[in-house]
This record gives sequence, C-alpha cells and structure tokens, in this order.
Amino acid sequence: MTTKLKEITFLTIKNLKNNEIILPGDYLKVFDQIAKELKLDLQDNLLMEKELSYSTDKINKIVEKTSKNLTQMHSSTKKAQKAILDKDDVSLSSISDEISDMQKQISFLQKELFSDTLTQAYNRKWFNDSYLKEEKFPENGKFAFLDINKFKTINDTYGHLIGDQVLKYLVKFLQSQLNYPSVHIIRYAGDEFIILFGEDVISEINVEDKMKDVQEKLSNQKLKSAKIDNLQFSFSYGLLDYKKDDSIVEILTKADKLMYENKQKSR
Ligand code: GH3
Ligand code: MG
Repeated sequence: MTTKLKEITFLTIKNLKNNEIILPGDYLKVFDQIAKELKLDLQDNLLMEKELSYSTDKINKIVEKTSKNLTQMHSSTKKAQKAILDKDDVSLSSISDEISDMQKQISFLQKELFSDTLTQAYNRKWFNDSYLKEEKFPENGKFAFLDINKFKTINDTYGHLIGDQVLKYLVKFLQSQLNYPSVHIIRYAGDEFIILFGEDVISEINVEDKMKDVQEKLSNQKLKSAKIDNLQFSFSYGLLDYKKDDSIVEILTKADKLMYENKQKSR
C-alpha cells in the first residue's frame, strides 16, 4: 500500500510539474484520478492513516514541501486577483517575486526527488522513471556497473559512518574523473553504481581505457581522516554497449556477470 501511495504521489507530481500554477484542488483531482486508475480505494481511511503514518521517507517530505508551495501558490493567486482589480502594481510585482521563488523551490524538489540522499548521485528512481522508457534504453551508449570491493570489511573495520564517507568519496571521485555532460552516475543500491556514457562522450574518449584508468587511480588513493590513516579501497566493474530499445534486465544481467569476472581477477 505504501508503495502504491508513493507511486500515485510521484505520478501526480509528474503530471502537474509542467503547470505554471498548481492549485490544491488540481493536486487532489489528479491524485484521485491516478488512484482510481491504479485501483486504490481511497475510502479505506483506516488503512490509509496507518500506512501514511509509516511513510516518513524522502518522497513524503517532498510532498509536504510541495503541498506548502501549493498552498502558498493559492494565496498568491488570490492576492494577485485583488491586486489586479486594485491596479496595485507594487503588490503585483512582489507576488511575481513570490511565484518565481516558488518555481525555484519546485525545481529544487524535482532535483531532490531524483537524487540519492547520501551521495547526491542520481537515484534508482531517476534511472527507472526518468531515464529508461518502459524498461528500455532511449538511446545508444555504454553501460558500466560498479560494485565496491569488500565494502562490508570497510564497514566492519571503520564503522558505518566511515563507510558512508567512502560512498560519498567514490561518487565525488567518479564525478571529477568523468566530468562530461553525457555521463550520468547512478547509485543503484548499497555499494553498486551505474555509469551511463552517452553517445557524445563515446565519440570523445575511449571509455574502456578511461574506466581502467579510473579504477586504477582510485585504488591508489589514500584517504585520511582525524582517526584514520591511509584508507584504501577499490571497485570492480563490468562495461558493455547498449543500443536504443535494449532491455535493462538483459544489459544489467550481462554487466553484473562482467563485473563479477572483474572482481574474481582482483582477488
Ligand atoms: P564484494 O567484494 O563481494 O562486493 O564484497 P562486499 O563486502 O562489498 O559485499 P557486498 O557488495 O555484498 O556488500 C555491500 C555492503 O554494503 C552491505 C551493506 O552493509 C553495505 N551498505 C549498503 N548500503 C550502505 C550505506 O548506505 N552505508 C554503508 N556504510 N554501508 C552500506
Ligand atoms: Mg561490494
């Protein structure tokens, strides 16, 4: 049920996000319509309340913030109606500022929806719902699947907080090494990441060489903190081409197998 509510919330926001002004009534109407399409019984209030009280994750925070924006948008619209009637240019200009502030907030929330909270890489939701089209690739490119080597040992030796820092460091490192507009880094799960190399970057660099180079460079880095001297870690990866309309399941299965072979070599 929670998943279904999240799905409806996401689809509602997706549906409304291009509207210049969204009134609370619009949100409810679209939410209700999508809920019906997905066969969720909104009359079942007891279940709803119970499920909603469990939902304290990111999406719900985004909904809360979006809903504040909607309420504010409603009051701004009312103020604007009055200001137009009164020919009050000063109020109109301040309302216009309020609305552009809200637009900024909404685009921030959209970005938030698609980014991994810990590492700020793209999240799986972005990959599934925004990049892929019905579980198929929308273009040609190269696909790298990465998994950190012995990450459990890092957690066990230094603690989960340092483990978190390692994940953040990896993303920063990858972003700095692969700083091209058509490269997208996604945190797929835990210590697994996907890197998408779009056609533009493929014609610019040799991706195979670049990945080898990044892998080697990272394994030679020595991380330091107040309590830790010279923490070193590495990743294994599988790299392969994908073509427009290839299925993600097939590409991921092949990439996972290649990553595993690469891991065996490093042992
Ligand atoms: P392998 O070389 O075979 O990949 O060994 P591994 O120890 O890296 O094993 P695996 O990839 O299966 O382990 C992933 C671990 O990542 C398990 C889980 O405890 C840890 N993990 C997942 N998400 C997080 C996170 O957000 N923070 C931290 N610190 N650890 C996480
Ligand atoms: Mg691992």
